[in-house]
Amino acid sequence: MNYIDPHIHMVSRVTDDYERLARAGCVAVSEPAFWAGFDRGSVDGFRDYFRQLTEVEPKRAAQFGIRHFCWLCINAKEAENVSLSREVIAMIPEFLARPNVLGIGEIGLNKNTRNEAIVFEEHVERALRTDELMLVHTPHLADKYKGTRMILDMLTSNSRVRPERVCIDHVEEHTIRPALEAGFWVGLTLYPITKCTPQRAVDMIERYGTQRLLVNSAGDWGPSDPMAVPDFIRALRARGHAEPDIRRVVWDNPRAFFAQCPRFGGAETDEARA
Ligand SMILES: [Zn+2]
Repeated sequence: MNYIDPHIHMVSRVTDDYERLARAGCVAVSEPAFWAGFDRGSVDGFRDYFRQLTEVEPKRAAQFGIRHFCWLCINAKEAENVSLSREVIAMIPEFLARPNVLGIGEIGLNKNTRNEAIVFEEHVERALRTDELMLVHTPHLADKYKGTRMILDMLTSNSRVRPERVCIDHVEEHTIRPALEAGFWVGLTLYPITKCTPQRAVDMIERYGTQRLLVNSAGDWGPSDPMAVPDFIRALRARGHAEPDIRRVVWDNPRAFFAQCPRFGGAETDEARA
């Protein structure tokens, strides 16, 4: 089955992973800007990273017939440095019109600090100015519930934010409901350690349905599995879910969310490839 991985950090994966993804039916990936494993020293570090996301990575993916999309921001970890964050946000428009850019992300919170919240809201303003889609990282483990609540409050109290243009990512059993009820898209991240297993993801789908729901691997340079979405497809089949229902989650839904960005509408992810 053809599928899209809507959240995967391919800059930190080897080329063999592209080959494995292609073999498993991956047709497109979307790569949010994130932490590199160390704090970058200047805005130029981010400028080079955005060039990698918009120039280098799409070419690497294309060798395997995979379309590569990306999102731009300074991640929540480095957002603790407010002055650097402001320089990065001011630089983002240099890249916003590039053909594989879907919007602003993954913005969000990490330790739920005041500085992170300030930078989150300034990213939201940046996104609203040119009507960009937003991809939102919610914190891990103990910080998740409070951080998700803070994010939902900031977004819903801003009347200019249209929830159908925002995805709240890394939701779990205790955060999926408020995000869906507020009208946002949600992302389930399949992760071997801190986030949810394919079986837990199937449980949530059986409970909450498939409307406005995406499933991703969030593969990066840490413990993670770029093949998690194909594993999830198998888990759905094993539980007796019908092919059109599976396809809705891994293909129709990401396309519907991304298609709200005019830069997404490429021929290679159209029905002809399905
Ligand atoms: Zn990520």
